[in-house]
Amino acid sequence: MKVWRSRIGGSDTRTAPVPGSSFVGVDVGGTKILAVVTDGIVAEAQDRELRATPKDPNELAPAIVEVVETLLTRNDAIVGIGVGVPGLVDNAGVLHYGPNVAGVLGLDIAGRLTEVFSLPAVAENDGYLAALTEHRLGAARGHDHAIVVTQGTGIGGGLIVNGQVLRGANGFAGEPGHMLINRFGHRCACGRTGCWESVASGAGLANIAREYVAEGHGGKILDHAGGDPASIRGEHVSAALAENDPDATEVLQRFSWWIAQGIGSLIALLDPSIVVLGGGLSAISDGFIDTVSTQVTEAVVGGPYRPVVPIVPAEFGNDAGAVGAVLRARDFFING
Ligand SMILES: [Zn+2]
Repeated sequence: MKVWRSRIGGSDTRTAPVPGSSFVGVDVGGTKILAVVTDGIVAEAQDRELRATPKDPNELAPAIVEVVETLLTRNDAIVGIGVGVPGLVDNAGVLHYGPNVAGVLGLDIAGRLTEVFSLPAVAENDGYLAALTEHRLGAARGHDHAIVVTQGTGIGGGLIVNGQVLRGANGFAGEPGHMLINRFGHRCACGRTGCWESVASGAGLANIAREYVAEGHGGKILDHAGGDPASIRGEHVSAALAENDPDATEVLQRFSWWIAQGIGSLIALLDPSIVVLGGGLSAISDGFIDTVSTQVTEAVVGGPYRPVVPIVPAEFGNDAGAVGAVLRARDFFING
């Protein structure tokens, strides 16, 4: 029998949740808040709720509370809550800082939810939760050593080491997007220059396309952006690619090269048996993952002399973080 200790004092005696119990998992993104209800064992959601992330940092916690409340009123078997937030979340579930939730500092969202709803609640980094989902239910199932990289506007990630998603000393491990990869590179959302994210995320694709256009190429990409180089985004490269534009193909080649450099470094560091790419960019063109794989073999030390590490698309899309939040909520319910 396990004892769950509330963050607000007191304790409650818990065992595994009774059959039929369910959990709320909330994924807080830079633009959207998605919440799902599942039993914490399978991925299929019994209910879901989606809303925009408020611009005002003071409104973030009330918005999360509201989403959870909506699901609690519609589902009476909920026994715990998990929340994923994009940033540095410590081992006590406090969000210290996140470049995509600017102004939210020192937020104890799990504590707030426990206080409001009197249910066990836990908060984690969103990349950690996406990695947990892929490891338990998705593409990294059965792999004790795996790297999950989620390419969205930025890069999220999680590192699976010895069968566990790596936490680090403070809970901050697994931020591959902010490894420095080029000191002469582009500005990153974190304020530094040359992070991997600045060349290997959706924003990175735009940076590379702008750089290419500044070299005097990429007319079609520029047309799609309305003629203004500063307006170029990843989707303009995709649109040009769909028209078989050779400049877009070249931009994609440069983009995949940078992705491969980061993955090669991660493989050198962690020796995984699989690399999972999430976030949808891996589907930008036919054969994109194959191109990255070839470039990774050239980018990793001793490439030709080590087994090829399969690079595969994630099995979960936009739900990965919210489903992971449910898995974590169930673990927290049982183990504290
Ligand atoms: Zn950065």
